Amino acid sequence: DMLSMFAHDMKNPTIIAEGFLSRLYSSKAGPLTERQSKYLELISDALNRLGKFTTNFLEFSRLETKEYKTSPLPFDIATAIKKHIEAARIEAEKKDIKILFEIPDDMTAVANADAMQIDRVIFNLLYNSLKYTDSGGTVTIKLLSRDKDILVQVMDTGMGIPEDHLPYIFDPFYRVTRDSKGSGLGLSIVKKIVEATEGKIWVESIYGKGSTF
Ligand code: ADP
Repeated sequence: DMLSMFAHDMKNPTIIAEGFLSRLYSSKAGPLTERQSKYLELISDALNRLGKFTTNFLEFSRLETKEYKTSPLPFDIATAIKKHIEAARIEAEKKDIKILFEIPDDMTAVANADAMQIDRVIFNLLYNSLKYTDSGGTVTIKLLSRDKDILVQVMDTGMGIPEDHLPYIFDPFYRVTRDSKGSGLGLSIVKKIVEATEGKIWVESIYGKGSTF
């Protein structure tokens, strides 16, 4: 309850601050010096991170309090993934990371799930891969049709996860290192959604080589 209240109360001030910041940044309140612009950019990055934290906290507490219901409907998961890849390209190019998408030619990728929730899953996994992969690396999303379900693999050539951390990686607030820029909630949200969809999620990783979720 506290987490949920906290996240709710944090959301509005963050949005208001972002709004005024964007006014300042676009020189609507007068011209800016180069140093002022630089500082505003740093404030904007920090607020952005705060925004992501609160969104994660809110989402996590929603999933915890059982308000969460899935509304499964058939949807084209390949198209959903392609949209995410297009949206992530700018971020990937900034880091010189290649994103590939692999799907068998004859595959119809219709999943029966809550499309919005699956969007969240794909977004979290894709951005984690980008976050934990160094420049020059590759992130691949691969689809495979199986007997009764679809296997979606998000693979990266990133830093990987040490073996002794693997059993805890989906636990809420768990991070391999404390200097991670995230909240450690992303993967626990992913797991809750996947399991509520009667799916399964697991990870295989070689430290220093990369991970596959
Ligand atoms: P965070 O917000 O910290 O990224 P997550 O729950 O998404 O939280 O991930 C938990 C931890 O798992 C991360 O802090 C990171 O240490 C590790 N992790 C997640 N995805 C990857 C990945 N693709 N490669 C390496 N480590 C990862």
